[in-house]
Amino acid sequence: LTLLGIESSCDDTAAAVVRLTPGLPPEILSSQVLAQTNLHAAFGGVVPEIAARAHAERLDSVVEEALTVAGVGLDALDGIAVTAGPGLIGGVLSGVMLARGLAAARGLPLMAVNHLAGHALTPRLTDEIAFPYLMLLVSGGHCQFLLVEGVDRFRRLGGTIDDAPGEAFDKTAKLLGLPQPGGPAVEGEAMLGDPKRFAFPRPLLDREGCDMSFSGLKTALLRARDSLIVAHGGLTVQDRRDLCAGFQAAVAEVLAIKTDRALALSGPVTALAVAGGVAANKPIRAMLETVSTRHGTPFLAPPLRLCTDNAAMIAWAGIERIRVGILPSSDFAARPRWPLDDTAPALLGSGK
Ligand code: ATP
Ligand code: FE
Repeated sequence: LTLLGIESSCDDTAAAVVRLTPGLPPEILSSQVLAQTNLHAAFGGVVPEIAARAHAERLDSVVEEALTVAGVGLDALDGIAVTAGPGLIGGVLSGVMLARGLAAARGLPLMAVNHLAGHALTPRLTDEIAFPYLMLLVSGGHCQFLLVEGVDRFRRLGGTIDDAPGEAFDKTAKLLGLPQPGGPAVEGEAMLGDPKRFAFPRPLLDREGCDMSFSGLKTALLRARDSLIVAHGGLTVQDRRDLCAGFQAAVAEVLAIKTDRALALSGPVTALAVAGGVAANKPIRAMLETVSTRHGTPFLAPPLRLCTDNAAMIAWAGIERIRVGILPSSDFAARPRWPLDDTAPALLGSGK
């Protein structure tokens, strides 16, 4: 089973070819990701119109590249899987239209894939892991605990009620004059800082369950920064390091405590898996692993290029879906919102 995957729901234009041969582990034959970071840099965030146009302009060549690198022609494919949501609708539509066109022209089956399902099924692309497992998806746009019970069965156990941690890392970097993306920059500064100097809040720990909040943390950081500026006329190098260390320790502790609860809520699972760019953070990763080990649950962190947005996870989700007998269909709509516990693709014109 060889599938082409197409992903264009945010600011990465991606295409990949993944093959599953019975009896062998899945093979990623190619995984091309063209980031748009430089196009949006001047605007301080992803501009939907710019993203949509860039996807439309670049998708053709990224797909071609993925096929060339894989050494696979369109006629050697068994199908196409495409992200049908959730995401910025202009970008999603670009991908869906291209996939539809290719599928129709070549008579190939077309599978609509939920972007979040792609993230959630990634651990099975890299490791032989059975259902059910717990997934912590923690990125620039998402933060949620998903109990993955099957290819098409996800239960959201909780998540952020406001910002995603990646977003908080990015805003922290901005407030402290550090480069974007903020995560790696803040992690670097934090390494040399004292996490105890500033007492940042651990929001929502008193609330039952595993919902989280990160927007208060950003406000606390802003206040600490401003009082330093008022008192001393600016920030020293060490101030910056200590602020980063305090912030990162707060995020890590909240994630760890809520992961502990999620593992208690989920019942027995085969693993705790992480996805999303924030999973690259070493102290956060270490905290999560500690919690996991305490529960006697194996900890799984796929390689970073598969944790962040890519199309191999979309192709893989397509393969998983075909394998369990879900019928491909080109009769689906692109959706800006598509919660994972509602996995059926919306039908065209259903208004969903
Ligand atoms: P999504 O995939 O949810 O649509 P996204 O494209 O922003 O959103 P990713 O590409 O998975 O998400 O991750 C990017 C985010 O991860 C950024 O917010 C970035 O700051 C954060 N990040 C990357 N590396 C680190 C790190 N070492 N520590 C903390 N955060 C990090
Ligand atoms: Fe994503």
